[in-house]
Amino acid sequence: MRWKGRRVSTNVEDRRGGGGAKAGGISILGLVVAFVAWKFFGVDPQQAYQATQAVTSAQSSQQGTAPQNLTAEQKEASDFVGTILADTEDTWTPIFQQLGVTYKTPHLVLFSGVVKSGCGTAQAAMGPFYCPADQKIYIDTAFFQEMRQQMGISGEQNQTELARQDQAGDFAQAYVIAHEVGHHVQNLLGISGQVQQARSKSSQKQGNQLSVRLELQADCFAGVWAHQNQQRTQFLEQGDIAEAMDAAEKIGDDYLQRRATGQVVPDSFTHGSSEQRMYWFETGLKSGDINQCDTFK
Ligand SMILES: [Zn+2]
Repeated sequence: MRWKGRRVSTNVEDRRGGGGAKAGGISILGLVVAFVAWKFFGVDPQQAYQATQAVTSAQSSQQGTAPQNLTAEQKEASDFVGTILADTEDTWTPIFQQLGVTYKTPHLVLFSGVVKSGCGTAQAAMGPFYCPADQKIYIDTAFFQEMRQQMGISGEQNQTELARQDQAGDFAQAYVIAHEVGHHVQNLLGISGQVQQARSKSSQKQGNQLSVRLELQADCFAGVWAHQNQQRTQFLEQGDIAEAMDAAEKIGDDYLQRRATGQVVPDSFTHGSSEQRMYWFETGLKSGDINQCDTFK
């Protein structure tokens, strides 16, 4: 995937710790939070305390500015994420214009360990997410590393010289960002609000099904983005689509559940099966048209 040399969005907030910001100084608040985490969530107190320290130091750093002491790799990660975010801005702005609506660009927060969001405190283990309350996307770049290592999503299955030169798995990562931006689009268009309302009136089983449809639509929107961005920038390289389909397959609920428990419980799906995720991503990708993304009919 080609990504260097394009516009980098200014809407990235880098809240990753720059490493050893404040030494010593035990904060009472940190201890209280650590105690609560230990008491109610069974988190190791030492770990919890370190986590709250990370949050405090992250909060004291200015928003929108990159922390110092970033490694070259960390800097590259923020450039990558900023470029993909800019790509989504340049895709969705004209689509919204055609609908007669203004596209309000979301912010993307990069964090490490734990982060305080408008939707509560989040941990890296939860994976990337979109918070409708503050309209921000939260991503721990360690998740990308995990994606590569633990789930084997790397693009390395394409053993061509081109693929090896290409950063492994970069399009799969772009797809994850585009999926989260898809949730922002749903929020702006009022789709998520309608679904939430419908969920409050339905059984848990029906509610889960609605959540799945919302997730599949975000996959379809990610496909629309890939289509439009290709028209605009010719960013795709050989093997990229296969890489995203591989990612869509591996982050399907059935796949994750099977890995975790050895069995599949369809009613508890929240993101859809691998097959469904691949189908909807491809639908968006082929058409480039949001009208094809009605996963609710
Ligand atoms: Zn999602």
